[in-house]
Amino acid sequence: MPRPLRPLPRAVTGADDLIAAGLAAPQDHALMQRLGQEFRIRISPEMLGAMGQGVTAQFLPDAKELDHRPEQLSDPIGDDVHRIGKGLTHRYPDRVILHATQTCEVYCRFCFRREKVGEEGILPEADLQAALAYLHATPAVREVILTGGDPLTLSPRRLTDLFARLSEIPHLDAIRIHSRIPVVAPERVTPQMLAAFDVPQAVWLVVHTNHANELTENARAALRRLTAAGIPLLSQTVLLKGVNADADSLEALFRALIRNRVKPYYLHHCDLAPGTHHFRTTIAEGQAIMTALRGRLSGTALPTYVLDIPGGHGKVPIGPGYLEQTVAGQWRVTDPYGQSHLYTDP
Ligand code: SF4
Repeated sequence: MPRPLRPLPRAVTGADDLIAAGLAAPQDHALMQRLGQEFRIRISPEMLGAMGQGVTAQFLPDAKELDHRPEQLSDPIGDDVHRIGKGLTHRYPDRVILHATQTCEVYCRFCFRREKVGEEGILPEADLQAALAYLHATPAVREVILTGGDPLTLSPRRLTDLFARLSEIPHLDAIRIHSRIPVVAPERVTPQMLAAFDVPQAVWLVVHTNHANELTENARAALRRLTAAGIPLLSQTVLLKGVNADADSLEALFRALIRNRVKPYYLHHCDLAPGTHHFRTTIAEGQAIMTALRGRLSGTALPTYVLDIPGGHGKVPIGPGYLEQTVAGQWRVTDPYGQSHLYTDP
């Protein structure tokens, strides 16, 4: 059994640290090393302080990660199918993904890009220049999404440079950041970082968070600093068995997000990444949770339950459905409490 948790003042990055922090037993040293070779280990000081229900399982390596199954994919959402160049993915006509770095402040054990993140650092300047040239030459692109690795691990100096260069693209309406940083390393949300976002385009931030217990006092303060700087906040959550796969946990999370001025945006069905079988629910289980939540939460607090179709075919809502055609012009509609009603479509 692991010894009682002893907070370390720095990030946990390997087997020795896990044991020193009381998160793993000394006899599991070799196992933890092996798991760290499968996928890098990193737990930030903020998350070390939040360890417990809903948090520990997201970051603590588990022997179940060695359970590799035939359906698991090294590129579960098909980023590579739409890869334009190093660091640039163009899946939908009006938006691109730019991977400015593959580094994260924490390494989440369920990460769908676990085959890539942590392996390479910051996108080399020549590749960034090529990506920016593509964006300048592609007026259909209206939005750039900065995503995982975690773009907010970049220094304020690099962020300022990146946002300034993106802001020079005349047809760009918005820059969207997907990040764990406000939650897992809130001390990095500084005035210098916020100043980097002061560009003519709309800057949106999608905060990745999976359990209300991650929203520490420091994290809530970081979210307040972002909203005070005029950054609209959305959230994305992965549906994870052993973390949040029940209506009570998700209700608590979505209510906490609304209280902190974050609109719950996506609930992702857990992608088919290697070694993540133990985290995955069935789609039917996810739909049942969403049905329960619709009866409890206002629309502002409800995210859309989505699946990234393997093979790079895009992201779609996966229900539950409330509408079923009976005969031409007649529909059966299910209300938020599960009762059916007939609707005649005039
Ligand atoms: S922060 Fe995001 S990209 Fe990084 S390991 Fe976690 S889920 Fe993956």
